[in-house]
Amino acid sequence: MAMKEKEVGVEDFVLLDEVTLENFLENIKVRFDSRKIYTYIGEVCVSMNPYRQMNIYGPDNVNKYKGRELFENTPHIFAIADAAYRAIKQRHRDTCIMISGESGAGKTEASKIIMKYIAAITNAGGQNEIERVKNVLIQSNAILETFGNAKTSRNDNSSRFGKYMDIEFDYKSDPVGGVITNYLLEKSRVIQQQPGERNFHCFYQLLRGSSDSDLKQFYLNRDPSQYFYTNQGSKETLSEQNDYKATTNAFKALGFTNDEVSTIWKIIAAILHLGNISFKSEEDNIVISNQASLQYAAKLLLVTESDMRNSVTQRVIAARGDVMMKFHDVTQAEFGRDALAKAIYDRLFTWIISRINKSIVVPGQKRYNNVIGVLDIYGFEIFDVNSFEQFCINYCNEKLQQLFIELVLKQEQEEYNREGIEWTNIDYFNNQIICELVEQPHKGIISIMDEACLTVGKVTDQTLLDAMDTKLANHPHYTSRQLKPMDKELKHRENFRITHYAGDVVYKITGFIEKNRDTLYQDFKRLLYHSKDKNLSDMWPEGAQDIAATTKRPLTAGTLFQKSMIDLVATLLKKEPFYVRCIKPNDTKSPTIFDDERVEHQVRYLGLLENVRVRRAGFVHRQRYDKFLLRYKMISQYTWPNFKAGSDKDGVKVLVKEKGFANDVKFGKTKIFIRSPQTLFALEKARNEM
Ligand code: ATP
Ligand code: MG
Repeated sequence: MAMKEKEVGVEDFVLLDEVTLENFLENIKVRFDSRKIYTYIGEVCVSMNPYRQMNIYGPDNVNKYKGRELFENTPHIFAIADAAYRAIKQRHRDTCIMISGESGAGKTEASKIIMKYIAAITNAGGQNEIERVKNVLIQSNAILETFGNAKTSRNDNSSRFGKYMDIEFDYKSDPVGGVITNYLLEKSRVIQQQPGERNFHCFYQLLRGSSDSDLKQFYLNRDPSQYFYTNQGSKETLSEQNDYKATTNAFKALGFTNDEVSTIWKIIAAILHLGNISFKSEEDNIVISNQASLQYAAKLLLVTESDMRNSVTQRVIAARGDVMMKFHDVTQAEFGRDALAKAIYDRLFTWIISRINKSIVVPGQKRYNNVIGVLDIYGFEIFDVNSFEQFCINYCNEKLQQLFIELVLKQEQEEYNREGIEWTNIDYFNNQIICELVEQPHKGIISIMDEACLTVGKVTDQTLLDAMDTKLANHPHYTSRQLKPMDKELKHRENFRITHYAGDVVYKITGFIEKNRDTLYQDFKRLLYHSKDKNLSDMWPEGAQDIAATTKRPLTAGTLFQKSMIDLVATLLKKEPFYVRCIKPNDTKSPTIFDDERVEHQVRYLGLLENVRVRRAGFVHRQRYDKFLLRYKMISQYTWPNFKAGSDKDGVKVLVKEKGFANDVKFGKTKIFIRSPQTLFALEKARNEM
């Protein structure tokens, strides 16, 4: 390596002398130490969380990257955003930028940087409506984070939901709209937080940021330790007062009405009161211990106190046309209360997002030409105890890996075949078999879970595990203690293991059935539908259903999630993909510590080495002969001003030979393939010097 390279490493992992894990880690460390946080693998951008403010996102850099090819500047996430933008502007292709990495790796920051970059390079004409859309796009983040993010042990501002956002562009390639889709909010956080973690930011913002008079209206006291849903976790305060103001401003910018904002905060307040309702049993009767909390919740939700009381203490059962009331026992009542709190919050979150979507459109503008999709979604998760949520999240990652294989690896190889370019197939692990383990009809885990959830009578998590063991005994990616009693990793009978593409994960079956069923008593749906608050009532249309009507079972959480993943993959498949792979250097949020073990783990789980190998086996750049000539014909005496002695392909051959790059390229049927970035760089340089 030359001296300069020693200091800052190579800018593209493809250029490593030899592709080994060791070299990869060494390079990323050298770059981190010299504060180079971005490095490419071809067109994939690897981003290291610097844990410090970097002075690289200002207008100077915007100008530097604007309209430039990836290889023309040092690696930067701006270059990826620009490449995606140029694809829509020049080639009218829809694109998507998929951002992945574990919690705290910098995904959400990356998505915001991308959005700001796109905002900075568009609307040269300064049209008001487009300025408004850009502002709305950016401000929507504040609202999403207030209601969807929380402090966790890994990240003070952790996104507890998956987010996909389409930014829509008109024929001039200016942003004219956007659509946000949300995935699987971690709603269990509303009722319970681990030590050191907190509930969603909005609860603390309301308590600490709102005015005295507002608080009084909500029957609240400033102190989060007064409320069961906010007193279990960390007592740490962040910047609630400022954040509350930012949220308020964002609501304004997005045109939320006073009514809407009021509904939102009232629901948040009501949830806090709900959490303080407790039950005890007295002579076979169930009694609510703290009436005041129930009254406050009812007032804020604009439902009658008696309806509220009834729905938390009893349920209506309809059997063959007869309608009966049945009182809960204390456990059922507590379960119902928590389910209600989670469900109200989850609905509210989805409602807020659809409300945001309504405001991200230029009025009267229905047509858009192209979109750039930005995906900021949970990375692979392995905790000490992995439950249903990790199962869903890791399944999501399997799907995205499948997509990556589909798009990058397979397409690449197929193109070489099509172009008649010699190519030795490189082995990669196709994880389709793991996707099938989860999602196959009848035989997959989600189907087996659904079947257990539909069974009438007593079904336990253990019987579910038994069913999985029976049906999946021969699956190479599935094991449990019952199948392999000697397996040390599976210490307990309630555990099972999936061998994911990224490694083994042991899941604990406890709670799977309940989380998959995701029961909310029909009584609550009716209660909320009958709220006098129109917005709240709108969130619960199914509450209109007649009591005696046989209710169709709602789809299970697992099936709903599977459906949303299939839709997501279908959406992404239609687009030209760009990737940002985020890595965190350590678990202590330090700007200087490089934790080799932690980084190695992430490099492996993101499949980065495999990515470099495929890239190296292939070519960094390809271009159609006519386009190539158009761009470079001026650098050769034989092709300038026009090549007349044969086809475009002949012209390109002559040019490449004259410039001495013949050994670094291959000639396909319709395209030239260039192996190394240096060649491309030299071509660009020659062109600029003309
Ligand atoms: P989660 O999955 O938990 O949502 P994430 O991958 O979205 O995590 P971020 O919230 O984007 O992680 O980043 C965590 C923190 O890391 C940020 O709050 C910020 O302090 C720091 N950080 C991330 N990226 C950058 C960056 N480019 N420059 C400066 N700091 C950054
Ligand atoms: Mg995030």
